[in-house]
Amino acid sequence: MHDFAVYAVTPENSRGRRVQEDPPAGRSEFQRDRDRIIHSTAFRRLEYKTQVFVNHEGDLFRTRLTHSLEVAQIGRSVARNLHLNEDLVEAIALAHDLGHTPFGHAGQDALNECMKDHGGFEHNLQSLRVVDVLEERYGLFNGLNLCFETREGILKHCSMKNAKRLGDMGERFIANQRPSLEAQLANLADEIAYNNHDVDDGLRSGLIDQEQLEGVGIFSRHLSMVRKRYPDIAGRRLVHETVRRMINTLVADLTQQSMDSIADARLDSLNGVRSSPALIGFSETIRQEQQELKKFLREHLYRHYQVSRMSNKARHTVEMLFNAFSSDTRLLPPADQSRFQKEGHQAIADYIAGMTDRYAIREYRRLFAIEES
Ligand code: MG
Repeated sequence: MHDFAVYAVTPENSRGRRVQEDPPAGRSEFQRDRDRIIHSTAFRRLEYKTQVFVNHEGDLFRTRLTHSLEVAQIGRSVARNLHLNEDLVEAIALAHDLGHTPFGHAGQDALNECMKDHGGFEHNLQSLRVVDVLEERYGLFNGLNLCFETREGILKHCSMKNAKRLGDMGERFIANQRPSLEAQLANLADEIAYNNHDVDDGLRSGLIDQEQLEGVGIFSRHLSMVRKRYPDIAGRRLVHETVRRMINTLVADLTQQSMDSIADARLDSLNGVRSSPALIGFSETIRQEQQELKKFLREHLYRHYQVSRMSNKARHTVEMLFNAFSSDTRLLPPADQSRFQKEGHQAIADYIAGMTDRYAIREYRRLFAIEES
């Protein structure tokens, strides 16, 4: 049924699940992982979490859910062409943002700061915690009991301190080894997705304009191609035709460059992947263009004063919630109060990180607005 390369992760060479289960009928182990992720509570919450734009700002912007679907789409295309395990890439892509706090990076930075005397907060590690511990759906185990390779792909990076207490999950960070090609691919598919949708959402929101973007190589190159092909095109169609070409170029470059690097490395097994340098990547030219685009987005979109104002409110909201709960744990819902008895401040971080943008806003009002209950 599958045409896997020798260096792909397969159900046969997988390191398996922490709790042993009967093999699934009618689907592969990694399809089962994907299915468990889609049915999880944390996955549904992605619909109401955002990274740049706060959820109530508009209905057309990407949410973490649609972002994750785009990452899965891009990852699967490349995986199929490289004969990698498409189901594994899809599972990692759909799970990669499960541990994100409300309000994107501002929320995560604030929670990390609040948790600094209690082990800190890393969203990657939190995504792993969601699938390993926090989901409560099965009789036999906590979490989703996913395969090792899916969990490894979710834990994109982690600090040395955390790696040391993570057991087999932390080994590769200590030994300076690479994760599977599927994990490397999901990571780059994430980058392709967010750079391009942030261009699209940035233009749609009016925070950046097309003229500014024309100074960025990869955008202007593809914009000229569109104008040559459709001289009268303008507005949303012009943007869309440009962005879709950018994605195409990146996907094609990533596929070709990775294919070449894999051939040069003469891989004969999955173990070879772990001891080789990172093999999934862009060509040097495209890598530089991507850097230029990222720099543009950082300066003009992520640090736009309107985004900064929203980030400031996000930070404030997370800090106020955290401080209220940690100074009086009776403000927590009963289930989280008992978790606090066992896990200390991590229970507060779990509660806050699990909130959607709008839940956090409502919870803030319930705690601090005298007219709310
Ligand atoms: Mg992402």
